[in-house]
Amino acid sequence: MEILSYEWLMAHAQNPADNLTRAFAGVIHNSRRNKVLEAHVMLGLEEETFESLMENYFPGALQNAGMTMPSVTAAPGCEALRGDEFGDLLDLLLEHRTQPDQESEWLAFAIATACMGNDHLYQDMGLPNRQMLSELLSGYFTSLFVRNSGNMKWKKFFYKQLCDRTGVNACRAPSCMVCDDYLKCFGPEEGPAN
Ligand code: SF4
Repeated sequence: MEILSYEWLMAHAQNPADNLTRAFAGVIHNSRRNKVLEAHVMLGLEEETFESLMENYFPGALQNAGMTMPSVTAAPGCEALRGDEFGDLLDLLLEHRTQPDQESEWLAFAIATACMGNDHLYQDMGLPNRQMLSELLSGYFTSLFVRNSGNMKWKKFFYKQLCDRTGVNACRAPSCMVCDDYLKCFGPEEGPAN
């Protein structure tokens, strides 16, 4: 079994049935395989914090891998240019935490990392469906979750929030109902993202 793969992480999971555990395993797995996410191989966390997450959710995993942290740290590259975007998404999520606890902070880093990917958010998080992602968002970022009353695709919704905060209107139509891009923002989140 490949080190730090989803299967390998879940074999070390403290609670394999836990959706948060599955989300962390999915993002760590994808960040090590997806070129787009490789700058966030530790979910954007400091080394010590990442080790703490691993010990809480996948105890013994790093030790069993014989892994020292520099070997899981991505080399700096062009992806660093997306640091501002990552930081803005992270700030948005952290502002809307239901509880100011460690779990929701780690999940915010994992979601912001997955937002850097090219697929639907639940896919970039390695989750089996959008419903599981929605349940996590509802529980850990309740005020943000309820704000998406139109059931917009999650990545589109997050970026729309960032645009609204800065007063940028990237939409070409006066309203969603008459917009040619409606299905890109609100269509079903199945299959490839567009
Ligand atoms: S559907 Fe069109 S108007 Fe609505 S958020 Fe998307 S791009 Fe903007």
